[in-house]
Amino acid sequence: MAVERIVQEFDEELDKQLDNSLRPKDFDNYIGQERLKKNLLLAITAAKKRNEPIDHVLLFGPAGLGKTTMATVIGNEMGRGVRITSGPAIERAGDLASILTNLEDNDILFIDEIHRLHRSVEEVLYSAMEDFKLDIMLGKGPSAKSMRLDLPKFTIIGATTRTGSLAAPLRDRFGLQHRLEFYSDEEIAKIIRRAAKILKIKIDNDASLFLAKRARLTPRIANRLLKRVRDYADVHGKGKVDLPTAEKAMAMLEIDELGLDPADRRVLVTIIENHNGGPVGVGTLAAVTGDERSTIEDFFEPYLLQIGLLERTPRGRKATSKAYKHLKKPMPKQNGDQTELI
Ligand code: ADP
Repeated sequence: MAVERIVQEFDEELDKQLDNSLRPKDFDNYIGQERLKKNLLLAITAAKKRNEPIDHVLLFGPAGLGKTTMATVIGNEMGRGVRITSGPAIERAGDLASILTNLEDNDILFIDEIHRLHRSVEEVLYSAMEDFKLDIMLGKGPSAKSMRLDLPKFTIIGATTRTGSLAAPLRDRFGLQHRLEFYSDEEIAKIIRRAAKILKIKIDNDASLFLAKRARLTPRIANRLLKRVRDYADVHGKGKVDLPTAEKAMAMLEIDELGLDPADRRVLVTIIENHNGGPVGVGTLAAVTGDERSTIEDFFEPYLLQIGLLERTPRGRKATSKAYKHLKKPMPKQNGDQTELI
């Protein structure tokens, strides 16, 4: 059983509620990702002028950076609703056919984890995305007939944590492809202040910046930290989140100044102490935390790579000199000299 982690909340229902209540509805409230916003705004304005749906959009980047949120913002800006589904939820080609035939012109279908679509479903999606036609087979065997149905002119917004896992023919059908970047501390602090306002939490500026630095450059985690700190302030403080309260709450959660929790540190310590700094396969790291391999790759690793504590090599993951320093571990010696493991 995996340990509970702030990066991956276990109560999915509560988590979804928090996500939904804090989701910005328009570009003005969607903080950061300026380049993405500029490009999408241009595409939206042009599409509206032509009275057409916008091109299919592929958003990629680690979990919690705002892909689903951006899909709903695009929907709002286009004045259309967004149907939300996910790759694994569409089990058969027939499921996709029924979703697509129920759409109307200019509607938006958001497919989260699009890299996990079944191959047979993916193939139906190709012609649906390209020329708004649905190819279906009626019957089986020699008497089977294929039929082409016209579909409404819709937009697919696909989200994926891994572009590498997406088949090229599918990827090529997205006219707009954008990577979401990690956020700066200042942007995250802004997101925290906005969320605090919505949740009616009083928070000092220095407390919001303190939390921002520990939010792994990720809005969803920032919102979770804020919620945890609020709980702490309600029980131990005066209901207001100031710097000492934020510090104590983070100490209680054992989240350090880089936003690492005990499981992150355990992963790094294992690489350093048991594997001489690496390289170590992802499978081994997953065994350390009791997580799925994909959980390591999608949730924990991107941030460790981003801040340079972990390095990805063809033979596995390595701890960097920064990781040794952060964990106050002596660097391994080679030929009597201190050597950098990068
Ligand atoms: P993803 O789909 O990439 O996993 P979400 O879109 O679900 O991430 O974002 C998680 C939460 O983070 C949202 O509910 C929203 O409250 C917050 N969030 C994400 N991006 C932003 C942003 N740019 N500005 C403000 N809040 C954001």
